Amino acid sequence: MCERCGQSSLHGFVPTRRRFLLAASAAGLLFAAPAGAKETKAPPKPQNVLSPDASLKRLMAGNERYVDGVAQRHDFRHEREALVGGQNPYAAILSCADSRIAPEYAFDSGRGDLFVCRVAGNFATDETVASLEYAVAVLNVPLILVLGHDACGAVDATIKSLKDDKPLPGHLPLLVTGLSPAVKAVAQQPGDQLDNAIRQNVIDNVIKLKSTTPILNAAVDQNKLKVVGGIYRLKDGNVDMIV
Ligand SMILES: [Zn+2]
Repeated sequence: MCERCGQSSLHGFVPTRRRFLLAASAAGLLFAAPAGAKETKAPPKPQNVLSPDASLKRLMAGNERYVDGVAQRHDFRHEREALVGGQNPYAAILSCADSRIAPEYAFDSGRGDLFVCRVAGNFATDETVASLEYAVAVLNVPLILVLGHDACGAVDATIKSLKDDKPLPGHLPLLVTGLSPAVKAVAQQPGDQLDNAIRQNVIDNVIKLKSTTPILNAAVDQNKLKVVGGIYRLKDGNVDMIV
């Protein structure tokens, strides 16, 4: 039984391609177009129809422009018009909620380009997994990037909470629960504990998204999707790909 999705029969016995079709068809039923809508139409941003590798290349080129301070000018007025009828983002990003990250800026992308899920500590909750399944099965997103960053306050707070054995107030223990596996996994490693935990958290969530959800797992198996991980550097804006 899959701990996250609870679908042992899909994981164990349905062939990969059939599994993806079943999952995509279920998602299609859930997110069907309104009655009377056109059944097929051109994607609003044809330039966003990319392979997983081309998507990653475009993300990295955008980050390079952002780092160099030569970001493109985005025509928001015409983009708004093009996106009224739909969306076809070229990548999905699971980012920390930290206000200093801003994925659209960091990858020099416009509206309709990035499907961004954000939570402090950039770990995949069930709701995040569902959102990313929607992005892949319905919007045909070819790439998911788990984006951590250095000096992450959520990871740091988790380290301190576990070390002091002192629960945080309010709903903050939910962040500790989500981040503690990575913190504990690197507890005995040499080097900076915060840096190590941030890196481990990105790696853990890439593995989780690749392997524990039937929709994403099948898309990866069919080479329709890549799941990668990177760390945003606050000082210069550079994103280092680590997995
Ligand atoms: Zn953070």
